[in-house]
Amino acid sequence: MCRHLARLGEPRTLQEVVDAPRYSLMTQSWSPRLQRHGTVNVDGFGAGWYVEGRDEPVRYRRNQPIWTDASFASLAPTIASSCMVAALRSATPGFAHDESSAAPFTHGRYLFSHNGRLEDYPTARKALWAEASTTRDALAAVDSALLFGLAVASWESGASLPDGLVAAARAVLDHGGGRLTMLAADGVSVAGVVVGEPMHLLETDTGTVVASEPHDDGPWRELADLTVVHVTAYGTTETAL
Ligand code: GLN
Repeated sequence: MCRHLARLGEPRTLQEVVDAPRYSLMTQSWSPRLQRHGTVNVDGFGAGWYVEGRDEPVRYRRNQPIWTDASFASLAPTIASSCMVAALRSATPGFAHDESSAAPFTHGRYLFSHNGRLEDYPTARKALWAEASTTRDALAAVDSALLFGLAVASWESGASLPDGLVAAARAVLDHGGGRLTMLAADGVSVAGVVVGEPMHLLETDTGTVVASEPHDDGPWRELADLTVVHVTAYGTTETAL
């Protein structure tokens, strides 16, 4: 299934984060090392990042493999940010590979990405639709959009970045469950929830990366299943879901 990452730290360009590492997302598009579901990630990709003086992120998405987008390759070395989310999509069968289904989703200052699959999307959707936000990206025709809508609704009612993801995960776990690993960012922090799809953490002096798989030979470690991770300028906390 999809591959994604979120990074908080000293500013780095999209090219440095998404393309330059030895096992970068760019490489993971055709040659992921730890992917358990699906083989390649070619059904779209996206990146979101924050710029000075603007609360809302910039978000760029395409419905094609990341390596086929010459425009992304051209702009990626010119865009530096201290907070970003990037994702590759391997579409779950049954969902279209249009741009609106590619992560990251965004609303206000939030970015969101889901890796996995809702076990019983029709039932979960019927049960949880009324609780979910109907912001544009939550209306995309893909299971991930329901999780996003639930997270947005929770954030809008005051939940912290990780708590919004936790609320979305719990709601779906109560309605069929599934593989629900998620990442989110708000410009000053990054959060993740690990449910059924792996997530790895790299902490260095210059930044912290949470990602589906290690993208270099650094001191990454795998987060346990059912972990909630929250990365801020003050450090990283890990709690149980
Ligand atoms: N189910 C989501 C989709 O279809 C995520 C897929 C994935 O993690 N590969 O886009």
